[in-house]
Amino acid sequence: MIPALIILNAGSSSLKFQVFEIVDDAEPRLVWKGLYEGLGGAAHFIVRHAGGADLDEMSWASADVFGHEEALMHLVSWLRGHQDGRKLAAIGHRVVHGGEAFPGPELVDESVLRSLETLVPLAPLHQPHNLKPIQIMRRRLPELPQVACFDTAFHQSQSDIASLFALPQEIRERGVRRYGFHGLSYDYIASVLKDYDPHLAEGRVIVAHLGNGASLCALRGGTSIATTMGFSALDGLPMGTRCGAVDAGVVFYMLREMKLTPEAAERMLYTKSGLLGVSGLSNDMRVLRERATTNPDAKRAIDLFVYRITREIGSLVAALGGIDGLIFTAGIGENDVATRAEVTNSLGWLGLVLDEAANRTGGPRISSGQGPTAWVIPTNEELVIARQTRSLLGATQASLAS
Ligand code: ADP
Repeated sequence: MIPALIILNAGSSSLKFQVFEIVDDAEPRLVWKGLYEGLGGAAHFIVRHAGGADLDEMSWASADVFGHEEALMHLVSWLRGHQDGRKLAAIGHRVVHGGEAFPGPELVDESVLRSLETLVPLAPLHQPHNLKPIQIMRRRLPELPQVACFDTAFHQSQSDIASLFALPQEIRERGVRRYGFHGLSYDYIASVLKDYDPHLAEGRVIVAHLGNGASLCALRGGTSIATTMGFSALDGLPMGTRCGAVDAGVVFYMLREMKLTPEAAERMLYTKSGLLGVSGLSNDMRVLRERATTNPDAKRAIDLFVYRITREIGSLVAALGGIDGLIFTAGIGENDVATRAEVTNSLGWLGLVLDEAANRTGGPRISSGQGPTAWVIPTNEELVIARQTRSLLGATQASLAS
């Protein structure tokens, strides 16, 4: 039997999954990828072959009460029906917060789960959804190993100073510090830099993960030394619906003068801000680009996004003491030619020179000249989770298959 891994990325009403098979010591091989959406309401399931061709699809009516638990059981039984010599060996989960206790992936037992639940207040909009499938699977298939892989772990290499807030000790002692997120994405990019340019793998690199969530990470020799996200996934760059860095005084204003409850203020900063809040139109960069010529608010949202990225890159260049390479990744970074052009052109002072033609076709190298280089590298967070799950469970096919 060939061991198979399910890799899960759970949201409040969605469940993204990928299935990998493990053959000897080779890189985990993607077999299928899919998605459940509309969970708890009118749910929909779609699964595709690794190459992208549709394989299967199913829908449920609201009255079916099809939630996360039903989706997980459906996935396990769907896999059994498509086994073809494979045996489900483990599940690897994306978990946004590992706190200070988990500097790397962790096999989940009851005490690990309890510990991860204590981190819910640090990531209230993500952590509960990430933990839900772990809780369900521990109840429904207790024998199946489950591994938690964290978005924070990659940044544990940062110095004490880089992760400190200038706050009194009694707050810092509660774990209030800069953690950083998108670590699974940065881990992937760091792991493939040598394939693009060996010089980059050793050098000073800034990775721009620009998706619905967005952050930057400064890598030196492939390890994280600074990042724009901090204590929560709100900090740093403006995002699809999140505000990015705002003066903490704004939050007091919202509570005291606008009389918002903490929950309403949190909702505003997480779900009504960013590109959506500034444009009043959409959190989707494709929509904003389409409308930017006729709608000044759409243009303003994009301009602010690009301005904040270039300013924060300046800060990370200072932290690195220079720059050898700039990498664009995630939905906007991989696809939005104009954002890459605007950011790179505004960094001419660093010696970056955009290769317009290469940028239009997606690179991978999109710079010319002798200075720092710029690149487009598609991220692959699920592969990192599969790698981590496999290596934690003992690497070999025999141990996974047992
Ligand atoms: P998530 O953080 O949800 O994983 P993604 O990495 O999928 O987000 O990025 C979503 C963003 O990528 C959206 O703003 C979307 O508009 C943008 N995007 C996706 N495809 C394109 C495209 N072809 N051109 C411009 N933007 C794109």
